[in-house]
Amino acid sequence: MSIVEHWISGASASGTSTRTAPVYNPAKGEVAREVRLATSGDVDAAVQAAKAAFPAWSGASWAKRQQVLFAFREILNARKEEVAAILTNEHGKVTSDALGEIARGLEVVEFATGIPHLAKGEYSENVSTGVDVYSIHQALGVVGIISPFNFPAMVPLWFFPIALAVGNTVVLKPSEKDPSASLWMAAALKEAGLPDGVFNVVHGDKESVDALLGHPDVASISFVGSTPIAKYIYETASKNGKRVQALGGAKNHMLVLPDADLDLVADSAVNAGFGSAGERCMAISVVVAVEPVADELIAKIQDRMTGLRVGDGLRGCDMGPLITKEHRDKVASYIDIATTDGATVVVDGRGIEVDGEANGFWLGPTLIDKVPTDSKVYTEEIFGPVLSIVRVASYKEGLDLINASKYGNGTAIFTNDGGAARRFQNEVQVGMVGINVPIPVPVGYFSFGGWKDSLFGDTKAYGPDAIHFFTRQKAITSRWLDPSHGGINLGFPQN
Ligand code: NAD
Repeated sequence: MSIVEHWISGASASGTSTRTAPVYNPAKGEVAREVRLATSGDVDAAVQAAKAAFPAWSGASWAKRQQVLFAFREILNARKEEVAAILTNEHGKVTSDALGEIARGLEVVEFATGIPHLAKGEYSENVSTGVDVYSIHQALGVVGIISPFNFPAMVPLWFFPIALAVGNTVVLKPSEKDPSASLWMAAALKEAGLPDGVFNVVHGDKESVDALLGHPDVASISFVGSTPIAKYIYETASKNGKRVQALGGAKNHMLVLPDADLDLVADSAVNAGFGSAGERCMAISVVVAVEPVADELIAKIQDRMTGLRVGDGLRGCDMGPLITKEHRDKVASYIDIATTDGATVVVDGRGIEVDGEANGFWLGPTLIDKVPTDSKVYTEEIFGPVLSIVRVASYKEGLDLINASKYGNGTAIFTNDGGAARRFQNEVQVGMVGINVPIPVPVGYFSFGGWKDSLFGDTKAYGPDAIHFFTRQKAITSRWLDPSHGGINLGFPQN
């Protein structure tokens, strides 16, 4: 069985570990390959490679770094089908969705190619007589990126193009569940002209993550994953003196006002609830229906669900499998919890017909009505194709429900009332808001991130926040000697 290896100093590296983990093809339900799990020594080797590469890369001209990123953009764009096939193979998402993931990642690469303009400092002439002040943005050093299974290409792409563009060197620790896309990108960066050691990949589990969090030569950590791990990463890396951004889990609500276009709502709920089998941090998992629309809306959602084809992502299906058997079983267990807690299971996704092999990690789209808000179905992040309906009597009741959630990643309101939408965008305690848009992932030149337990740290991913996160600002006060100005003065200059 083949083994997915690390990538250190521009080449494949086995490291010192004998530990491996299985990588599945979730549509077949079988182990496709193994992945190496790094020791702390392997992580150190990657960090040392990145550290050694830092002086030359951070000292290279902006133009040189832009050339590499432009070339990488061209390679990724021209060969995106190759990457999509890797994503479908290891994650299970259908081909069209895999291509969508790459398109969103490409946006960040394109944004990074314009970095020189965005990372410019400021200059003030003559702040005091003959004295000028200006600021420059400098790279941090070696930056660590730890990514989740659900976007094996896009989430690393949220961070490393900008980290590299401003002169950092990178150690990426991707999810061990679908590690191969990161290696494709590492090889493509090399082909694009990136010097060896500037971008490194180590595969692993908690041991490798802890090694990165505690390494004295790692300047920052960018993490994306579940909330408990995000909190742990934030606390540990902060305690170790690192700059940290740790994006966590989500429970995204869609508030439907009675005046909304219910056909648009039903389309959006199905797309955002079941796309990528619900394994998206911006998936809609709760539809909050302001009565009297619930019955009519549920009928429309159910009608659309009957047409969905679940199966192997390579066969043109609408929805693929879940990532592992354990995760599928956990997601399915919420259907029993719903029944026990008094909810109504409208569509049960267990045991559906699939266009794929029998052992795949399948669970069909599931719709649950009248979910009690103290049920785990409502309070926990399910991260699968399970859409809940909660019925409320008013806008205010719906808003209060959303604001009481411990998560604050994404939300959406569906209405034809501009005033209500405007009020919602102001009053809702969530980081990314859609108005008649179900998955409001900001485009690459804005920044991505939630509030509350969906983001630990104060800077978001990509966009302008990323330039701030991946650089340190230095302010310089300069005076070039003028014989008419000088002399002893122990106070601050005043003119
Ligand atoms: P996860 O938290 O299990 O894993 C994320 C990363 O942390 C992986 O690289 C994993 O190897 C590592 N990890 C796992 N357990 C660890 C431990 N005990 N100590 C140290 N490191 C550990 O998340 P996942 O299951 O891969 O991804 C799904 C989660 O990610 C969901 O909760 C989802 O909402 C979240 N997510 C959030 C965003 C966002 O932008 N907020 C985006 C994508 C995914």
